Amino acid sequence: MKLIVDTKQRYAKMRAHTAAHLLHAELVKIFPTTKQAGSFVDEDYLRFDFAADRALSVEELAQVQKNVNDLIYAALPVETTETSFDDAVKNGAKAFFEDKYGDVVRMVKVDQDISTELCGGTHAHNTKDIWCFVILSQEAVASGIKRISAVVGPKVYEQIVERDQLLENIAAKLGVWSKQVSDKIEKMLKEYETMKSSVESMETKLIADLLTRLESKSSEDIQKIVTIPSDVNFRKAVDQYKMLYPGYTILLATKEGNFALLGSITSSAKTIAAKLGLKWWGSDQLVQWRDSKVLELL
Ligand SMILES: [Zn+2]
Repeated sequence: MKLIVDTKQRYAKMRAHTAAHLLHAELVKIFPTTKQAGSFVDEDYLRFDFAADRALSVEELAQVQKNVNDLIYAALPVETTETSFDDAVKNGAKAFFEDKYGDVVRMVKVDQDISTELCGGTHAHNTKDIWCFVILSQEAVASGIKRISAVVGPKVYEQIVERDQLLENIAAKLGVWSKQVSDKIEKMLKEYETMKSSVESMETKLIADLLTRLESKSSEDIQKIVTIPSDVNFRKAVDQYKMLYPGYTILLATKEGNFALLGSITSSAKTIAAKLGLKWWGSDQLVQWRDSKVLELL
């Protein structure tokens, strides 16, 4: 029987697997007590799960990526030896999960002391064969378990092309060259902030103007009872009315039954709401809720 091995596929998995060992070695520098919690190696793609009580910062991720690439460009030999389990552990090999290891184990070593793991997988013979390593993402997969996904070899090139295309698309939408995208977005955000605050101040003025023109009623417990149009920013209307009539007990409500009841120094809003049999939530100064019963008061 002849065993046919897809060489291209096999090299792609070797690159990813050795890169996973390098990534692991770098993660241990940041989380000395971390444990591998699983990994998945495919053609030029890898996912590595590890125990960590926090996520890596953007800077740490960039540093890990750089360090792994430095190890690749250092062209370090990767050696696989068979030895006894005890000797492997004496050599500082990382043994994973609650894996059962036989008497003879396979030890994969990158250079002298970069990485030593017990591992049955096939590996690149030299780190330079990985070509390049790019992190795609970091995510939380379970409580205390983080996952880093990355690509190596030709998939890095695909990644560059894809990101380039994305950037070009954004630039085209913004009508600038890709190098100007960041400046353009910053400028647009500033314009947006200016517009937002001018719309807000216009809205505040309009509401203030509207409130002075709205007719109010009063009752035994409340000095100002006002129906607010439903399309008015209710929160702003409450703030504005409070400023217009400081110290008054005020009830603002919409025809849908949304209401805000403002108390004064002498009258608690909670007490008035309870007396009127309204459902409410809030404090002595302000209670609010939605209760159709409030419509009887308008
Ligand atoms: Zn391995």
